[in-house]
Amino acid sequence: MLQPAAMRFNDSNSVVIVTERDVMVVDAQADSSTVESLYEKILELTDLPISWLINTHWHADHSQSNATWKRLVGDQLRIVGHESLRTDIPTRTQALLDEQIERLSGVLPRAEANLAEGKGLAGQDLDASQRETQKLAIEQGKAQLEELRRVELLVPDVTYRSVLRLERDSGDVVLLHMPGHTAGDTVVWLPEQRVLITGDLLDEVPFGGHGTPSAIQRSLDHLSGYFPAIVVPGHGPIQRDRERLDLVRELWSKLLRHCRDQQQLGRSLDQTRDALDLGDLRARMTGGEPVAERNFDGFLPDNLERACADMADTLE
Ligand SMILES: [Zn+2]
Repeated sequence: MLQPAAMRFNDSNSVVIVTERDVMVVDAQADSSTVESLYEKILELTDLPISWLINTHWHADHSQSNATWKRLVGDQLRIVGHESLRTDIPTRTQALLDEQIERLSGVLPRAEANLAEGKGLAGQDLDASQRETQKLAIEQGKAQLEELRRVELLVPDVTYRSVLRLERDSGDVVLLHMPGHTAGDTVVWLPEQRVLITGDLLDEVPFGGHGTPSAIQRSLDHLSGYFPAIVVPGHGPIQRDRERLDLVRELWSKLLRHCRDQQQLGRSLDQTRDALDLGDLRARMTGGEPVAERNFDGFLPDNLERACADMADTLE
């Protein structure tokens, strides 16, 4: 029996697929402590061996803890991802990791020195409770820095180019290369159960990531033809209908069309941004929820810029 279960930890979703003979995990998480707690939960769920870890793409929250999984599960664990991960993890994931270490290494001593004088990072005076909060934040930052310094990135043992089918009696698990959020996105499709695990190609709040909006739209258009019963996005709650998938497709196609129209009129990016009218799409996507609205508004300028760069490329 296949029991897909999605759990939201930290930031990204990990999905546990239990087949008749083994367990597969989709997405590795960034922190080893999160991996350890997920691993404990899998042990409570089943005695079957964990044989596959699928990386949907190279971003840290989906691939950074590959080595932790290997350490916990052992060498029988095979890590699988799109072939581009062989180069993207050692270069792009590593670069982001190095950047994070450098940033924390710089900011923590400054924050500590300031705190010793009762001040915050920007030199502002702190009251007693703010000092307590700052002390805690510094301790957490130090623990995170220690953890990041210990990270050893691992590339997948097994890679594929366009499709990889893991055959199981309980229902096949199909890995599909569906680029968009990055160049090497993997989407996991369980045809028997009609469960679609999208990685960040579909996010609670659309974010272009390191990808190309026209590719996101192509991939989402393709996937909508699968008529999934359950969609597990890279972040956020499980979807039991197509509404979110369709809304996200609508957003990207509106942004791309708007960019194309404005470029044909010779408008600049600033003018294009000013002329953008999404109608009620923002309200339909966020449901008026303040955090969702803030995220939507935060990502929109970058999303529009990516869409316009993408359309400019196709015009040339
Ligand atoms: Zn991502």
